[in-house]
Amino acid sequence: MPCKKCGSIRIFLPHKIVCYKCEDINILDSKKEILKRKFKIKQIEKDFLKINGFVNYNTAFGSAIVNRELAAREAIYSVKRRTYSIKEWLAYTFLLKNLKYHKIIKSVKNVGIYFRKLLDLSRNAIEINNEIVCLQNKLAFIVNLNGNKSFVFSEKEHLHYVPEEIFNEDEFRFRPHDIDDKEINIEYMFMQESLMYPMHDIYLSEDISRVLKKLHHNRILPFIKNTKQANKFAQIGFEISNQGLYTNKILGKEYFDEGVILTDSISLEKIKYNLSNIFNHTDINWFFNNLYYKKYGKYTLADSIIIQDNENLLISIPLYSLLLLCYATKKWVKDVTYGTIKNEKGKIMEEYIFIFLNAYNLITKHPLSGKSLIRVPHPEKGQEIADIIGYNSNNLVVIECKFWNIPFLHKLENELQKFENNIKYITQNLSKFGFNKNLNVIPIFYTPYAPYKSWNNIVIVPSVFKLGKVLFDIFGSKEIKLIDEIPGLKQIIDMFSIPLRYPVDLGEIFKKFEMNKYWIQDGIVLKFDNEEILVIIDLPYSSSAFGIYFDITNKTYNELEKKNITSGDIIRFITVNLSGTWSITQMLYFQKIFNKTDWFFYDPKFEDYKRIINFYNYIKRKQ
Ligand SMILES: [Zn+2]
Repeated sequence: MPCKKCGSIRIFLPHKIVCYKCEDINILDSKKEILKRKFKIKQIEKDFLKINGFVNYNTAFGSAIVNRELAAREAIYSVKRRTYSIKEWLAYTFLLKNLKYHKIIKSVKNVGIYFRKLLDLSRNAIEINNEIVCLQNKLAFIVNLNGNKSFVFSEKEHLHYVPEEIFNEDEFRFRPHDIDDKEINIEYMFMQESLMYPMHDIYLSEDISRVLKKLHHNRILPFIKNTKQANKFAQIGFEISNQGLYTNKILGKEYFDEGVILTDSISLEKIKYNLSNIFNHTDINWFFNNLYYKKYGKYTLADSIIIQDNENLLISIPLYSLLLLCYATKKWVKDVTYGTIKNEKGKIMEEYIFIFLNAYNLITKHPLSGKSLIRVPHPEKGQEIADIIGYNSNNLVVIECKFWNIPFLHKLENELQKFENNIKYITQNLSKFGFNKNLNVIPIFYTPYAPYKSWNNIVIVPSVFKLGKVLFDIFGSKEIKLIDEIPGLKQIIDMFSIPLRYPVDLGEIFKKFEMNKYWIQDGIVLKFDNEEILVIIDLPYSSSAFGIYFDITNKTYNELEKKNITSGDIIRFITVNLSGTWSITQMLYFQKIFNKTDWFFYDPKFEDYKRIINFYNYIKRKQ
């Protein structure tokens, strides 16, 4: 579905999606642009060979192997730096693939400079190769924007970004200021910080595969031809990387060459032999042969994952790189039951948003039947017509959730069109649903890769945060009563003797408590007044510790004062999730574990609190 007005292809500009013809944007001849790039890449490859002669092979190989693992680890654990780290990971892998062994060192001076030159050439080679592949397939064009030549994707490519016109608004200023990546998945950050675990793995694997694909359109693992093989690859890879990382940790290697197992061909056989307890020989050999023996062209990186250096003949098994590729492949594994998983994910998100509505002053139950207004059926045809409905005496919102990872623009537009038709029906038939027929209907479409701000009268939101803002403007917040006491909860604080670095769901340990309602954890107090307390906490998947506000009652405030709690104290505390989605959370009980003076001079017993202590010091330094 190209441009509705003129039928031309639309392009993804940083701030907006537009039709190039209607906007009078000059697209340069792709054939010429491809030729130019092919010429350039030849030059880069030649330079690479030349510079290769000036570097110390051993040092260059070692640096590339270690740095590649650092990049892979950052790509997995730091959502803010994912695009950047995967770019680096690709460059190091290209460098390792093309680095040639030579004995003579032509220059011993400025070794570091030559290595950085090789790395720069690798970065350029990967980027230009990707541009060529995209231009050849019309996934992208080179356009002339205000006198500058820019590489832009077209609507033939999946939507993998949110245009600036949508998120570059005041309400998105909550983004950490050090973000340099416009394609940041805002939703992901929200989810990770709202403790929404069930979807974490799906999200992570989709996001990694999305970024890898965007930066490198060649298949990274071309030997994976079906879902069975994808499954096999992910299972063996996870096993190796998890075991290896665990062993390295035990050996105390985690701060040095933590991400790599260095081995030789004899020990490699031992590793394979150990794996044969779990997997069969054919699969194990398939895995190693494809990742190890050179068999692919320059830009297919599969055979440079497990790699041997030609000077010491040591084989490096890169643990984080394998983990990264396993996550990227795992998403593919889901294809076996793709429909079901996709539906499941959509359902989890619908339920999440439905509960999220609790924080606002609207009704989410049917006026007559009292049924929850989620997955609402068509009053005449029976099939589902709306994902979520909420209302008050004047307004009724209909929310559609399309929780797709990387949709095509035209598919989203089809869904918007369908939603528009449903809204028309709902508006004209409010009484058939049992609603007051004079209600003002407001349609909201939620999708992480929102292409536009709105579609006719439909508001499009790319995040739950933004949805909250829209709902607040229409309905205002619900007044939630804080809790005074939950019988049997307070005593639990004394039951744990280990540091609680991450939150623990009490519903998982004690049957008498609801799941996802009461949590216990340790944190550092930053400040408090008689309404709220700001505590620094840590989560297993977040890239750093962060501060979070909890509501408190007057009673809790008095206790904080009485027990002399001050900024910097480490406390253990129990929180109650009042709205269901952590948008309103109360701190109900607490206990001081350490004074600030206890941890101020480093002691190994504070190892578990290292991240929150670092974050505390960081905030204090900034103040
Ligand atoms: Zn047009």
